[in-house]
Amino acid sequence: MSGISDSFQRPINYLRISLTDRCNLRCVYCMPPEGITLIPHSDILRYEEILSVVRVAVEMGVNKVRLSGGEPLVRAGVVDFIRMLSSFKDIDDLSLTTNGVLLKEKAAALRDAGLKRVNISLDSLRRQTFEEITRHDRLTDVLDGIKEAEMVGFSPIKINVVVMRGLNYDELLDFARLTIDGWNVRFIELMPIMNKGAKQPEFVSAKEMWETLSSLGTLQPCSPLAGNGPASYYQLPGARGTIGFITPVSDHFCFKCNRLRLTADGKLLPCLLSSEEVDLRSALRAGAPPEGIKQLILKAVAAKPEGHRVSQGVVSQKRPMTQVGG
Ligand code: SAM
Ligand code: SF4
Repeated sequence: MSGISDSFQRPINYLRISLTDRCNLRCVYCMPPEGITLIPHSDILRYEEILSVVRVAVEMGVNKVRLSGGEPLVRAGVVDFIRMLSSFKDIDDLSLTTNGVLLKEKAAALRDAGLKRVNISLDSLRRQTFEEITRHDRLTDVLDGIKEAEMVGFSPIKINVVVMRGLNYDELLDFARLTIDGWNVRFIELMPIMNKGAKQPEFVSAKEMWETLSSLGTLQPCSPLAGNGPASYYQLPGARGTIGFITPVSDHFCFKCNRLRLTADGKLLPCLLSSEEVDLRSALRAGAPPEGIKQLILKAVAAKPEGHRVSQGVVSQKRPMTQVGG
């Protein structure tokens, strides 16, 4: 297995795949209430097409794959697809990001299929606020999904919380207290990527979150959890679990970016926040051999920018988050 690096000597070993742009929730920061214009089914990559891309990427040194969306668990056949992915012996970290709504019914099958880890998005512990943020009354399903994921042995489970003033900021301490009993909670700064018509909630910086959390005690830095993503991790005194901060806006982590993103319609994105993309679907459907796919992957790697400028309000990404995969 070889390895690839971009023009800034960053090793690229992580592929995030948006399996679908469909979703069973409508989070205020992600979608307008009526949803977004969906990619036609015929334009969505078929599983075997995704596998062709993964096969080449793994040969080039990718060893970390995450499935996202949209909501990856709404796509039919996802469990069988994961079973196929888990047969790649060079993928040592196979994970999925989900809103958790369907996890209760699918967790055992996902684990059996070889999925290693799940990250679950949960922005509120209060039924009414959860519904206000996601526009669906599904909090109980998500909490049941988290319990089931724990029961079938997923570990560590990371809970992703996008923090928004006036919506869930007043739950910061409640989420943090859950780490005492072993939850791993990651507070995410809201990124200004909205779809037209989506409500713009109010940003809270990690620095402000940190100050609020200090009322619970001194946060001690600790080693990163499995996956070694962009979060920095801390623990409250006596806590079994961790508090992570993901700071795409106030302190971006581009210098260690190791990822490429594959959209549901088969475009390879060098960066979450840039509009650059490389069209893999046309090549796949024109019968490109693995070498052709490899050249396109190298093209995307070469196009990786040094960093984004979201803190200065510059976001050239035109696609909705559901296609990009978060
Ligand atoms: N549906 C799945 C879920 O919600 O976990 C996977 C897709 S979602 C686009 C992936 C992640 O992106 C979620 O944790 C979500 O909270 C996060 N996300 C979406 N829009 C965001 C935004 N504008 N700023 C920060 N995080 C965002
Ligand atoms: Fe769906 Fe995830 Fe977007 Fe929420 S953040 S609308 S769950 S894709």
